[in-house]
Amino acid sequence: MPKKYVYYFGAGKAEGDAKMKNLLGGKGANLAEMVNIKLPVPAGFTITTEVCTYFYKNHKKYPPELKKEVLAALAKVERTMGAKFGDVKNPLLVSVRSGARASMPGMMDTILNLGLNDKTVEGMIKKTKNPRFVYDSYRRFVQMYGDVVLDLKSTDKHQVDPFEEIIEHRKKAKGYTDDLEFTSEDLKDLVAEFKTAIKKGTGFDFPDDPMEQLWGAVGAVFRSWMNDRALVYRKLNNIPVEWGTAVNVQAMVFGNMGDTSGTGVAFTRNPSNGDNEFYGEFLMNAQGEDVVAGIRTPLPIIQLKKENKKVYDQLEKVRKNLELHYHDMMDIEFTIQEETLYMLQCRVGKRTGPAAIKIAVDMVREKLIKEKEAVMRVDPEQLNQLLRPIFDLKEKDNAIKNGRLLAKGLNAGPGAACGKVYFNSYDAVNAKARGEKIILVRIETSPEDIRGMNASEGILTSRGGMTSHAALVARQMGKVCVAGCGPLEIDYLLKTMKVDGKPYIVKEGDYISIDGSTGEVIVDQLETRPSEVLQVLINKTIKPKDSKIYGVYEKFMTWVDKHRRLKIRTNADQPDQSENAVAFGAEGIGLCRTEHMFFGGDRIDSVREMILAYREEGRKKALEKLLPYQRLDFVEIFRVMKQRPVTIRLLDPPLHEFLPHTEIEIRKLAVMIGTTVDEIKYKINSLHEFNPMLGHRGCRLGISFPEITEMQARAIFEATCVVHKEGIKVIPEIMVPLISHVNEYKLQEAIIRRTAEQVMKEKKVKFNYLVGTMIEIPRAAITAGAIAQSAEFFSFGTNDLTQMTYGLSRDDSGSFLPAYIENEILQRDPFESIDVDGVGILMEFAVRKGREVRKDLKIGICGEHGGEPDSVEYCHNLGLDYVSCSPFRVPIARLAAARANIKNAGYPH
Ligand code: PEP
Ligand code: MG
Repeated sequence: MPKKYVYYFGAGKAEGDAKMKNLLGGKGANLAEMVNIKLPVPAGFTITTEVCTYFYKNHKKYPPELKKEVLAALAKVERTMGAKFGDVKNPLLVSVRSGARASMPGMMDTILNLGLNDKTVEGMIKKTKNPRFVYDSYRRFVQMYGDVVLDLKSTDKHQVDPFEEIIEHRKKAKGYTDDLEFTSEDLKDLVAEFKTAIKKGTGFDFPDDPMEQLWGAVGAVFRSWMNDRALVYRKLNNIPVEWGTAVNVQAMVFGNMGDTSGTGVAFTRNPSNGDNEFYGEFLMNAQGEDVVAGIRTPLPIIQLKKENKKVYDQLEKVRKNLELHYHDMMDIEFTIQEETLYMLQCRVGKRTGPAAIKIAVDMVREKLIKEKEAVMRVDPEQLNQLLRPIFDLKEKDNAIKNGRLLAKGLNAGPGAACGKVYFNSYDAVNAKARGEKIILVRIETSPEDIRGMNASEGILTSRGGMTSHAALVARQMGKVCVAGCGPLEIDYLLKTMKVDGKPYIVKEGDYISIDGSTGEVIVDQLETRPSEVLQVLINKTIKPKDSKIYGVYEKFMTWVDKHRRLKIRTNADQPDQSENAVAFGAEGIGLCRTEHMFFGGDRIDSVREMILAYREEGRKKALEKLLPYQRLDFVEIFRVMKQRPVTIRLLDPPLHEFLPHTEIEIRKLAVMIGTTVDEIKYKINSLHEFNPMLGHRGCRLGISFPEITEMQARAIFEATCVVHKEGIKVIPEIMVPLISHVNEYKLQEAIIRRTAEQVMKEKKVKFNYLVGTMIEIPRAAITAGAIAQSAEFFSFGTNDLTQMTYGLSRDDSGSFLPAYIENEILQRDPFESIDVDGVGILMEFAVRKGREVRKDLKIGICGEHGGEPDSVEYCHNLGLDYVSCSPFRVPIARLAAARANIKNAGYPH
């Protein structure tokens, strides 16, 4: 069957539906769906994403069949709307918009009012009897077309837009203060001036032929898939370039036809906190871009109830129907044309982390969705937002009492942020690179600001509503945002901001604090504090029953735990870290790095004494001093972890890491252990290695100095005996690091088992324990079968495994790896997310070979990847038993594990 490139929608019937997002893009698929569920949608058609792919594969040419299909669909639109494209008497006007699979707000281009020229404009005037409105539409069209299709733009961010310059010039000449004061004559003149400016600036004539206009606009939208903003956005959101965008051509309806017309955007629930209330903004006598661009500050939707109940009631009905149909919170765009409501867009609404969880929990209660669906609705990174910092309330109140509240704007993205002010994206990105924390301050943001927004802790704008670009993008990025802070006077050239009547002039580099939950802007460097969930779980400063947010979190996490298979452990080597992790839901310790314990208190002295000793007896003496410390460390951890499994890794880093570096430290040490400075320096030099990560570390230490392994094993087993007597029947898991050959493991295992026997005899306590190893060298993965003959468990050390598989130093790659991502040599940093095609294959092989030998071999992961959602999913699919991550990522890993399990079971079908 030949490919179909164009899909029509209108008059209660559409060729597409919501399931066809890949082909029709999100917008096109949902327009079709809304038509199918009989919502009022102006007729139109969608040109598929496949045309975009074709366009880029064929030197920006279209498939030959496209033209015919577009003409046929356009004829249908004409019939449905009762108007003709390009007709002088009764012209049909259309909008041309992008629409990718995933929403990319404001990143690509749009053209409205297409089809107007000096002739059709007359027809429109006759039809509407409203010359002012028609000329206003015409000048908007020429302006947009000139900008987007013909590329007449300002060349740098300090320059005023050429069209705005013409508008301002005329306003001044006429003594107007508001655009609404323009007469139809003024607007007609503006059209002419715009066309002259286009010709002068670009060399192109503005096309009068509507068909030429249409193809020009379609081409511009396809081209905008590759503009810089879209490229950056796709990279940040991992959207593949191959997806392409669709183009939607739709009959225009007008929100600027006078006081009974208007336009707005809304969410069916509050996207900021998730409350079940209609939430949005509208502007009467305006077109869509006025609301989204944030040029005029719109009114809250509830005001529409007072201004025009008839329209409000229609909208409220649409809100209900949409939620019942989609079972989700929806984001809608609508236009009111002379009291009739038209839906222009609907999509699943973006929301903050707290809102995502609240909506998911509420919708289960309202029987709109099931528990599993609720789990799939919350992205692990959104859960992370719920754990984000807030201000210390007392400190903030004090600052406000001291008059440091500069202004209040809209609470567009929750959380607390404090940083230095920067007024443009470029400066913000540079400051971030210098290690500063930044608040990006803009009059309003545009997609050009995306890099700066990404670099900042928080975003502050003086214009624009809750659905302005700044607000939408900030929420999506999980950034703190205060938008529409009207009193701020921002001067881009001087790089300052102030508020009339306030004594402060905030300059670039000054600190401010913004509260995205209340909208407050404070001229002060305020401390941030843990989120409410953390205050309940970790600080215990709030009782669980006193926190609504915690209540929702808790409910949600019970569903998460119900639906996951993978166990979640934590990487912790201190009792307090372990306690936090348990509060976050950790079910054990997957990695206790014993070397961290060597730095506590004055034990480092004994560690150094041990390293500097020339003979075994000297080392043993120093180790004897260390033993009680290590034992206590383990006792405390076992007590916190109760019966939960604890994996303890034997000493791993090269010994030089423990030695002093400064002259003063060396001198002190010499006195303490009764040797000379030169002796110590000699020893330090002799321990120097050219490549310490591949040097004398890991099990190689235990092989050279078996007494270290013995001391550590003894400390673990003696601690086990201590807690056993207290009723805590812990089963310690002793892990040998960095093996490449099974014989290395066997040697270490023998010492461990011998020590266990001795301790059991001495203490007269019987306990169980496991001995296993890390798989972090490729050779260990390749010979996993042989290793599993002896080892009782594996834990993937994917930090080293990645380092050694790639031959990339994990400590030095920061200077060159970013360029690999920039140049798309690698899609993602392999130290952050598991490299499935390389490291992943080694893991898969090791799991298979290991379990062939030992069916129930316990396998986990304790590299940093254990807390990264995509890697967690990968580990679930590999059949690992657990992932282990830092305490603060435990809730995220729990959610990622549940989602992987649900997805694996065939969700959503
Ligand atoms: C690893 O290599 O992944 C690991 C957990 O060990 P470390 O980071 O301590 O080398
Ligand atoms: Mg390692």
